[in-house]
Amino acid sequence: MDFQYAPAPESRDVVDIRPSYGLFIDGEFTDGHGEPFKSIDPSNEETLAEIACADSADVDRAVKAARTAYDKVWGPMPGRERAKYLYRIARIVQERARELAVLESIDNGKPIRESRDVDVPLVAAHFFYYAGWADKLSYAGFGADPKALGVAGQVIPWNFPLLMLAWKIAPALACGNTVVLKPAETTPLTALAFAEICRQADLPPGVVNIVTGAGDTGRLLVGHDGIDKVAFTGSTDVGKQIARGVAGTDKKVTLELGGKAANVIFDDAPLDQAVEGIVNGIFFNQGHVCCAGSRLLVQESVAEELLARLKTRMATLRVGDPLDKNTDIGAINSAEQLQKIRMLSEVGEQEGAERWSPPCELPQRGFWFAPTVFTSVAQSHRIAREEIFGPVLSVLTFRTPAEAVEKANNTPYGLSAGVWTDKGSRILWMAERLRAGVIWANTFNKFDPASPFGGYKESGYGREGGRHGLEAYLDV
Ligand code: NAD
Repeated sequence: MDFQYAPAPESRDVVDIRPSYGLFIDGEFTDGHGEPFKSIDPSNEETLAEIACADSADVDRAVKAARTAYDKVWGPMPGRERAKYLYRIARIVQERARELAVLESIDNGKPIRESRDVDVPLVAAHFFYYAGWADKLSYAGFGADPKALGVAGQVIPWNFPLLMLAWKIAPALACGNTVVLKPAETTPLTALAFAEICRQADLPPGVVNIVTGAGDTGRLLVGHDGIDKVAFTGSTDVGKQIARGVAGTDKKVTLELGGKAANVIFDDAPLDQAVEGIVNGIFFNQGHVCCAGSRLLVQESVAEELLARLKTRMATLRVGDPLDKNTDIGAINSAEQLQKIRMLSEVGEQEGAERWSPPCELPQRGFWFAPTVFTSVAQSHRIAREEIFGPVLSVLTFRTPAEAVEKANNTPYGLSAGVWTDKGSRILWMAERLRAGVIWANTFNKFDPASPFGGYKESGYGREGGRHGLEAYLDV
């Protein structure tokens, strides 16, 4: 049945975007000394605001502010007092949830349904969760009186701007560290709104500092002598550069990098549920997800039927205005990312895979890519090996469980995987053999602040979330 949808736009009136933004250092918004840059709305290419760029003097100022705050205020503060600030931040995030969700969708291009129902609630949940740990660190399994590391330099990507900020800042603060965080250059606005939230929560100046800028600012931050810890989420290439840069220093590092997850469908899986899981696995957040289920491995005997059902489902996906509450797939975050998705998709065709997208009309302005599936994919194809980071699914088949494991593990990455089957024993058998940090069974892309997240191999090292996530910010 074909449903007609009336437009259901979320109002932009709840956000107040200023024409320009400064850096957030020592509790104040200040000018940057680098060349300012623009943040645009990827759904229509309109400029949203001009953003200050931090140069080396600015980064230095931010690190010094964080050091002073660590030495004088935040480090000596008892955990139960730190917890109060974190709870307060969590509550303000909840109070301002609608505004933050709209702002995130405007700056990032993701559907409002996701920023409203996934990103922002998880941000609040993260702060609540780590607030709970702040006065219980002695019971976390890292010794009787674990100490903070000091100042953390944190660099995050553009795919979940505010959520990645929460993943970085909440555990760092709970453990007694202070932070300097650099958001991605295409999505700085919610980090700057978070700076306001820090002020609203009366967080002591210097505990959280936000420096905006591009890769150069990130390099200055992670290379700064005054930081004790580097936390990075982003591309594997930059992750490797950072790992080389900190080698031989005392800095502790956690890296959360790319992925090429296998989503494995056995012939006894409930196929309609699996189709929903596949769609959620690869089209959630336009596929800009490091743990996206970008390689579908389907058992040969059900491949034809599953693909037919998948295509029927894909034809119902609604691509368009991120602020429309009915939108399933929003805008691609940047022209560069769109270019990369297009390039790899063309390579897929050239290498002999079969490309299919449902008929779908894309808006004229902005950055858009139709949901796409490739069949007849070989393991050697670039679309089966490289992270596309877009709404593009590569389908391979297998005959036996052993072959499924071999193909799933045939990747330089190891962040996540999915298994769909009716048999509990098979789930456990697969989970033992899949080399991935997170394995979902009969579901996909489920996140909870209490559960650790992180990768094997080129997906990085260290864990974020849960009790394990504390370790990255403690001197253990
Ligand atoms: P990126 O690694 O270039 O950028 C991530 C962050 O690192 C940004 O804040 C950026 O400004 C900063 N950065 C860039 N160069 C740096 C350097 N030398 N030192 C310190 N910081 C630096 O990622 P990208 O360009 O946004 O995306 C490229 C590819 O990375 C994507 O296509 C995707 O495959 C992958 N990616 C993965 C994740 C993830 O969550 N694992 C997130 C975003 C992108």
